[in-house]
Amino acid sequence: MKRKTPSSPTVRERPIRRRVVPDDECTECGATMHGSTDAMSVPINGEEIEVPGIPHLACPRCDNTLTWFADVEALHLAAFAIYRERHGLLAATEIRALRVRRRLTQARLAALLRLGTNTISRWEAGRNVQSASMDVLLRLVRDVPGTLEYLRRHPA
Ligand SMILES: [Zn+2]
Repeated sequence: MKRKTPSSPTVRERPIRRRVVPDDECTECGATMHGSTDAMSVPINGEEIEVPGIPHLACPRCDNTLTWFADVEALHLAAFAIYRERHGLLAATEIRALRVRRRLTQARLAALLRLGTNTISRWEAGRNVQSASMDVLLRLVRDVPGTLEYLRRHPA
Protein backbone atom coordinates (compact mmCIF):
# COMPACT_ATOMS: atom_id res chain seq x y z
CA MET A 1 0.00 0.00 0.00
CA LYS A 2 1.40 3.35 -1.02
CA ARG A 3 1.39 6.10 1.51
CA LYS A 4 1.29 9.75 0.51
CA THR A 5 4.19 11.81 1.79
CA PRO A 6 3.98 15.59 2.14
CA SER A 7 7.39 16.12 0.58
CA SER A 8 7.82 16.12 -3.18
CA PRO A 9 10.33 13.72 -4.81
CA THR A 10 12.69 16.58 -5.67
CA VAL A 11 13.04 17.42 -1.99
CA ARG A 12 14.17 13.86 -1.42
CA GLU A 13 17.30 14.42 -3.51
CA ARG A 14 18.69 16.64 -0.78
CA PRO A 15 19.96 15.01 2.40
CA ILE A 16 17.08 14.79 4.84
CA ARG A 17 17.27 16.58 8.18
CA ARG A 18 16.60 13.45 10.22
CA ARG A 19 19.92 11.97 9.21
CA VAL A 20 21.63 11.09 12.46
CA VAL A 21 25.01 11.54 14.04
CA PRO A 22 27.82 10.51 13.48
CA ASP A 23 26.97 11.76 10.01
CA ASP A 24 28.27 15.27 10.61
CA GLU A 25 27.67 16.77 7.19
CA CYS A 26 25.78 20.10 7.29
CA THR A 27 22.27 19.61 5.92
CA GLU A 28 22.31 23.17 4.56
CA CYS A 29 25.70 23.55 2.88
CA GLY A 30 27.47 20.16 3.10
CA ALA A 31 30.42 21.31 5.19
CA THR A 32 31.61 19.10 8.04
CA MET A 33 29.97 20.20 11.29
CA HIS A 34 31.87 20.12 14.58
CA GLY A 35 30.87 19.60 18.19
CA SER A 36 30.19 22.75 20.18
CA THR A 37 28.74 23.98 23.47
CA ASP A 38 28.67 27.62 22.40
CA ALA A 39 25.53 29.60 23.22
CA MET A 40 22.48 28.79 21.11
CA SER A 41 19.68 31.25 20.46
CA VAL A 42 16.14 30.20 21.43
CA PRO A 43 13.12 32.43 20.79
CA ILE A 44 11.03 32.78 23.97
CA ASN A 45 7.93 35.00 23.90
CA GLY A 46 9.38 37.01 21.02
CA GLU A 47 12.79 37.42 22.63
CA GLU A 48 16.02 35.69 21.60
CA ILE A 49 17.52 33.91 24.62
CA GLU A 50 21.16 32.83 24.44
CA VAL A 51 21.68 29.45 26.09
CA PRO A 52 25.29 28.33 26.65
CA GLY A 53 26.51 24.84 27.45
CA ILE A 54 24.16 22.63 25.42
CA PRO A 55 26.13 20.17 23.25
CA HIS A 56 25.32 20.34 19.54
CA LEU A 57 26.88 20.30 16.10
CA ALA A 58 27.69 23.65 14.51
CA CYS A 59 28.53 24.36 10.88
CA PRO A 60 31.72 26.40 10.39
CA ARG A 61 30.49 27.70 7.01
CA CYS A 62 26.83 28.66 7.57
CA ASP A 63 24.83 29.32 10.77
CA ASN A 64 23.25 25.87 10.81
CA THR A 65 23.23 23.95 14.09
CA LEU A 66 22.03 20.44 14.88
CA THR A 67 20.90 19.57 18.40
CA TRP A 68 20.56 15.98 19.51
CA PHE A 69 16.96 15.11 20.29
CA ALA A 70 17.82 14.23 23.89
CA ASP A 71 19.29 17.72 24.43
CA VAL A 72 16.40 19.71 22.94
CA GLU A 73 14.38 19.58 26.16
CA ALA A 74 17.38 20.67 28.23
CA LEU A 75 17.91 23.55 25.79
CA HIS A 76 14.33 24.77 26.21
CA LEU A 77 14.26 24.33 30.00
CA ALA A 78 17.47 26.36 30.26
CA ALA A 79 16.02 29.06 27.98
CA PHE A 80 12.85 29.28 30.12
CA ALA A 81 14.97 29.59 33.29
CA ILE A 82 17.08 32.40 31.80
CA TYR A 83 13.98 34.24 30.57
CA ARG A 84 12.26 33.81 33.96
CA GLU A 85 15.34 35.11 35.78
CA ARG A 86 15.83 38.04 33.42
CA HIS A 87 12.27 39.29 33.92
CA GLY A 88 11.93 38.31 37.57
CA LEU A 89 8.93 36.11 36.82
CA LEU A 90 6.91 33.94 39.17
CA ALA A 91 8.15 30.34 39.33
CA ALA A 92 5.97 27.48 38.10
CA THR A 93 5.25 26.49 41.70
CA GLU A 94 4.20 30.06 42.55
CA ILE A 95 1.70 30.10 39.68
CA ARG A 96 0.22 26.83 40.91
CA ALA A 97 0.08 28.14 44.49
CA LEU A 98 -1.77 31.34 43.60
CA ARG A 99 -4.26 29.42 41.46
CA VAL A 100 -4.96 26.83 44.17
CA ARG A 101 -5.34 29.57 46.80
CA ARG A 102 -7.97 31.19 44.55
CA ARG A 103 -9.69 27.81 44.10
CA LEU A 104 -9.44 27.94 40.32
CA THR A 105 -8.89 25.13 37.87
CA GLN A 106 -6.14 25.61 35.30
CA ALA A 107 -8.77 25.93 32.55
CA ARG A 108 -10.81 28.49 34.54
CA LEU A 109 -7.82 30.72 35.26
CA ALA A 110 -6.81 30.45 31.60
CA ALA A 111 -10.31 31.52 30.53
CA LEU A 112 -10.33 34.51 32.91
CA LEU A 113 -6.98 35.67 31.53
CA ARG A 114 -8.15 34.93 27.95
CA LEU A 115 -5.42 32.37 27.39
CA GLY A 116 -5.52 29.05 25.55
CA THR A 117 -7.00 26.21 27.62
CA ASN A 118 -3.67 24.46 28.23
CA THR A 119 -1.51 27.53 28.80
CA ILE A 120 -1.66 27.54 32.61
CA SER A 121 -1.02 23.81 32.63
CA ARG A 122 2.14 24.29 30.55
CA TRP A 123 3.37 27.11 32.81
CA GLU A 124 2.80 25.06 35.97
CA ALA A 125 4.58 22.06 34.44
CA GLY A 126 7.52 24.21 33.30
CA ARG A 127 6.91 23.30 29.66
CA ASN A 128 6.55 26.98 28.79
CA VAL A 129 7.02 30.31 30.53
CA GLN A 130 4.71 33.29 30.87
CA SER A 131 5.55 36.63 29.26
CA ALA A 132 6.48 39.55 31.49
CA SER A 133 3.08 41.16 30.90
CA MET A 134 1.19 37.96 31.74
CA ASP A 135 3.29 37.75 34.89
CA VAL A 136 1.90 41.16 35.92
CA LEU A 137 -1.66 39.83 35.50
CA LEU A 138 -0.84 36.74 37.57
CA ARG A 139 0.55 38.96 40.33
CA LEU A 140 -2.61 41.10 40.26
CA VAL A 141 -4.72 37.96 40.69
CA ARG A 142 -2.49 36.90 43.57
CA ASP A 143 -1.95 40.23 45.36
CA VAL A 144 -4.76 42.67 44.58
CA PRO A 145 -8.13 41.97 46.19
CA GLY A 146 -11.03 42.25 43.78
CA THR A 147 -9.03 41.36 40.65
CA LEU A 148 -10.70 37.99 40.19
CA GLU A 149 -14.13 39.53 40.68
CA TYR A 150 -13.29 42.18 38.10
CA LEU A 151 -12.20 39.52 35.59
CA ARG A 152 -15.38 37.53 36.23
CA ARG A 153 -17.50 40.62 35.56
CA HIS A 154 -15.66 41.26 32.31
CA PRO A 155 -15.45 37.85 30.63
CA ALA A 156 -14.05 37.33 27.16
ZN1 LIG B 1 26.47 24.67 6.73
